[in-house]
Amino acid sequence: MEPKDAKVAIAGFTVWLTGLSGAGKSTIAQALASDLAARGRRVEVLDGDEVRRHLSQGLGYSKPDRDTNVRRIGYVANLLSRNGVAAIVAAIAPYREVRGEVRRAHEAPFVEVFLDCPLEELARRDAKGLYARALRGELPQFTGVSDPYEPPDHPEIEIRTDRVDVERSVRTILEWLERRGLVEPACGLA
Ligand code: ADP
Repeated sequence: MEPKDAKVAIAGFTVWLTGLSGAGKSTIAQALASDLAARGRRVEVLDGDEVRRHLSQGLGYSKPDRDTNVRRIGYVANLLSRNGVAAIVAAIAPYREVRGEVRRAHEAPFVEVFLDCPLEELARRDAKGLYARALRGELPQFTGVSDPYEPPDHPEIEIRTDRVDVERSVRTILEWLERRGLVEPACGLA
């Protein structure tokens, strides 16, 4: 039997939340990060909007620019996760091929979470007022309306965020990570 205080290397992983704007990527990423941090994990969130202000400043929304943005996020997520960090990405990443490329480049487990939500619900939420503008034809490269979104064929986890609330979505992801042994089951945590 191992002594109680045996140092066990903690395996990092990347959880990539993909889906249309307003599907809940940032909200679920933050809630998941809080829960993991409360369990003593080292966590970093790479949020698409924030990355575009820093790492990807100057990039636009053409396919090559979007691909570059996703490759950069994937590169950083790999550096973090291979060093034991739980890297949580909240970024649309609309193109299947480059998501696959990032997955293949990963040295730690890569968990693709597809947050699916119908356009009608997204337009109803319209937290940033962008759907109203996109549906009026004012945003020529708006994912899901005037720009492509290729849904994942085989995501590890798929959640319909018009049917499942934030808390249950986080629980679904955590339970998946627990079953794979990437996260210790929460003992005594509510
Ligand atoms: P994204 O990062 O995908 O653009 P956000 O997390 O920024 O999405 O915004 C999603 C909005 O939808 C938030 O205002 C959030 O409170 C709301 N929302 C309503 N229901 C849900 C749900 N079931 N899951 C996630 N977000 C939800």
